[in-house]
Amino acid sequence: MLEDKNQERTSLSSLGEFALIDHLTKDIKVKQPSTLTGVGDDAAVLDFKNKKTVISTDMLVEGVHFDLSYMPLKHLGYKAVVVNVSDICAMNAKPTQITVSIAVSNRFPLEALEELYQGIRLAAQVYDVDIVGGDTTSSQKGMIISITAIGEAEEEDIVYRNGAGESDLLVVTGDVGAAYMGLQVLEREKQVFQVNPDNQPDLEAYTYLIERQLKPEARKDIKEILKGLEIKPTSMIDISDGLSSEILHLCKSSGVGCNLYEEKIPADPQLISSCEEFDIDITTVAINGGEDYELLFTIKMEDFDKIKGNPNFTVIGHMTQESEGTHLITRAATKIPLKARGWDGMNENDTDEE
Ligand SMILES: [Mg+2]
Repeated sequence: MLEDKNQERTSLSSLGEFALIDHLTKDIKVKQPSTLTGVGDDAAVLDFKNKKTVISTDMLVEGVHFDLSYMPLKHLGYKAVVVNVSDICAMNAKPTQITVSIAVSNRFPLEALEELYQGIRLAAQVYDVDIVGGDTTSSQKGMIISITAIGEAEEEDIVYRNGAGESDLLVVTGDVGAAYMGLQVLEREKQVFQVNPDNQPDLEAYTYLIERQLKPEARKDIKEILKGLEIKPTSMIDISDGLSSEILHLCKSSGVGCNLYEEKIPADPQLISSCEEFDIDITTVAINGGEDYELLFTIKMEDFDKIKGNPNFTVIGHMTQESEGTHLITRAATKIPLKARGWDGMNENDTDEE
């Protein structure tokens, strides 16, 4: 899983920056009506008419956010777009454009950047966003990808983090925890590979987990689904750092407390079996593991009937008065304070400090 599959290696310095950008962005077509001018001038020109513009940016650093020994470059490019598109979706807005900036050290040949761009372009196609600009430069060490996502929304449709009310229901899309376990599986296989490079890993039992880690998807569909159900969430956020951490963000912004019910947290069967195999507590993974890119939102209690039984949504708790605090209610009905441990907090040397 770790060998370099790039047979050809064209050094980036032989191209120069402008030729490189031309090469990577050639025949990029723009499709969004709001894109007046994309790549090719000093700046892109966008026109959202009377809609509001939503902008979010995110940076991924090699060795911090990704490990190229098990992350194929095409997947990395795809994921880099997805994590940004997810933030636009979390505002209940429609993603429309991205800009892509990449810094790479000279250990990467042109073919590596082409592969990365294949993933970026695939995601742009899947999420129907135009690539309208960016930058490519050299770095001393490793790869850095910074993507800015732009979206549009009617002002009245935008959902912020701060609108949750005291008796609102807390709802999550899809399931959580799988991306974190996917990473655990990949880390284990990496270690096995380092000891025995001839070992062919059998990853059949973990396909969903690995896909959630390597090729996550943003919930671009949720905006339309909610609209069809005539629901506007009162607050919303995407799950990048972990359920617990995102709940605390919503609570802090909205000035409310929350009870999260352990028994309600949606988990995929592969997550359940792999947690047993790895002897890890599934609830810890589900609330602290990040990178699921599902949406977490609150709705008014009277909207419950509209989502009841809908396979896209699970009600996992309810908001409370701020003074009641934020708690996980376990299956044994014990109340445990929620902590924002997030992604990095899963390390063994975690000191429980936020
Ligand atoms: Mg976010």
